[in-house]
Amino acid sequence: MPAEESTPAIVLRARDYAESDRIVTLLTRDFGKLSGIAKGAKASRRRYERKLEPFSCVTLFFKRRPLGQLVFITRAERGETGHPAIEDDLGKIALGSYMLELADALTTEEAEATHAYNILADALAALGQGQASAALRYAYELKLLRAAGYGLEFERCRLCNNVIEANGSAVYFVVARGGIVCSRCRPEAPEGAVRLDAASAATLALLGIASFDEAASLVPGNASGALALARFLASILDRKLRSADFLDRVL
Ligand SMILES: [Zn+2]
Repeated sequence: MPAEESTPAIVLRARDYAESDRIVTLLTRDFGKLSGIAKGAKASRRRYERKLEPFSCVTLFFKRRPLGQLVFITRAERGETGHPAIEDDLGKIALGSYMLELADALTTEEAEATHAYNILADALAALGQGQASAALRYAYELKLLRAAGYGLEFERCRLCNNVIEANGSAVYFVVARGGIVCSRCRPEAPEGAVRLDAASAATLALLGIASFDEAASLVPGNASGALALARFLASILDRKLRSADFLDRVL
């Protein structure tokens, strides 16, 4: 029998399975995304209470199986941060659900995801202690995209590399370039680029590097920043996230 392994982990989704089991997908710090089966979890609610529900931050104990992707979850203990305090607030539930679904969509099983894990853990902690806000959403999207290999550029023109002045001319976000082009390079940008005022671009550049606590105090620019991020996400995700519509209505 394989040895028991353990890692900090966050539950992304969970569902009941057969008579008494539960199938759980988690983003782990040490082993990337894992799906596992917790035998008898439904029958022993007390042992697993609130530890195998979405949002739970736990220390996961599991054993690998010789065949098949599902690991055997042997137990789960409350992690350092436990369950973020989001349940009394619709905006927090909506943004938190979106955070989980986006992390699920941007990670794959068997791939290293320590950076993504840390981003999700920090974002959920910030959400639990603060408020749901557009700034927190954009900061999370920008950081998670960077961890997934899609670092978006809002500070410099992708073509001439000039730094954009926050009080300068409007810039244009080009999905295919994963960043902005300046007004002088605009003729070389394709049709359909998203026009951003320079201040909005500067704020997005800042949100990508600020801590979540700092991000919460920033005021994101107008809706064109949201449009730029949404267009980029749509270009790399193979499906529309269910939680995105809900979040757009609530926030
Ligand atoms: Zn340029």
